[in-house]
Amino acid sequence: MAGRLDDVGLLDQHCHGIWPQPLSRTAFEAGLTESADPPPAGTTRFDSALGLAVRRWCAPVLDLPAHAPAGDDLARRGELGPPEVARRLLTAARLDGLLVDGGHRPDELLGPTALGGLAAAPAREVVRLETVAERLVAAGAGPAELVAGYPEALRAAVRAVDAVAVKTVAAYRVGLDLPANPPGGAELGAAARRWYARQPDPAQPRLDDPLLLRFVVEHGLRLGLPLQVHAGFGDPDLTLHRSDPALLTGLLRVAPAPVVLLHNYPYHRQAAYLAHAFPHVYLDVGLAVPHTGARAAAVLAEVLELAPFGQLLYSSDGFGLPELHFLGATLFRRGLSAVLTGLVELREWAPADADRVARMIGSGNARRLYRLDPSHSP
Ligand SMILES: [Zn+2]
Repeated sequence: MAGRLDDVGLLDQHCHGIWPQPLSRTAFEAGLTESADPPPAGTTRFDSALGLAVRRWCAPVLDLPAHAPAGDDLARRGELGPPEVARRLLTAARLDGLLVDGGHRPDELLGPTALGGLAAAPAREVVRLETVAERLVAAGAGPAELVAGYPEALRAAVRAVDAVAVKTVAAYRVGLDLPANPPGGAELGAAARRWYARQPDPAQPRLDDPLLLRFVVEHGLRLGLPLQVHAGFGDPDLTLHRSDPALLTGLLRVAPAPVVLLHNYPYHRQAAYLAHAFPHVYLDVGLAVPHTGARAAAVLAEVLELAPFGQLLYSSDGFGLPELHFLGATLFRRGLSAVLTGLVELREWAPADADRVARMIGSGNARRLYRLDPSHSP
């Protein structure tokens, strides 16, 4: 096994686009946190595990010494300009491919094609289930039309971008304790009417009814494509304890398609158990890798305790800053390498097994799951 997994390609199975414009220091720091608020007065977002990782690992990609002060890093960003900064960081991530969630603030971000071009890797799209419903409503569909029209609208959205997966952000909307079974006709119709009645602005709807969310999830699952589910920490509009993936257990028992639990931290051990229990459940620790910085190895070690190795995936959840796509890959390679090297040194694992498992988690499992390589038998 290569010491730092440098030769292991990574398939980033969940990320977003990047901001194309030059950023002020305030805007850059806002990209280093999930918080919607500025840091406490007199402090900086650079004083975090992620912030120190930016100074350690991103600075050399921009020709600066490792650990250069944050101000130098930002000045160098300004000199190089956003396209060159993005090209350097995304190619340095050495990705085999990217799966891009195009449903979150797409108007302000460079999309999948541009992102793939900068990364010199193929990019494919993931369709958000909630966005498809909200677009229908914003276009004037009433409650009955939403229920009747959603399945075809979803199929059309998937066809339009040749999507490889669908995704739900139910964790942000109501939490993951969705009903195990989808609602039936009268119950669904009543839920749709109730939800419409409490939308403050029909032009900007927000799908946040548990039965309607279970309805869109059901139609996502019926496509047969993998369903990605945000779980665990994220923006503060989620309530953390309601994003525990174990709350999905009833739904997972009846899900007719693969379910991919994204992020999961601090419930990554619960997610590992769910993958252990259900062969159609997959997981990553996405966002937790860049945000835990030098401690990412500890998180990865905990996932490897119980999760079957064929059901583990890699993602960065990079959003806005290409530093996040790069750090996700860099810290994942370093963290996984530290864990696997330790096991080999203890003579618990053979080097060949460590190498094989690293390649499975890095890209092999994702290729098989998303059918990205037709020659790869399932
Ligand atoms: Zn995301």
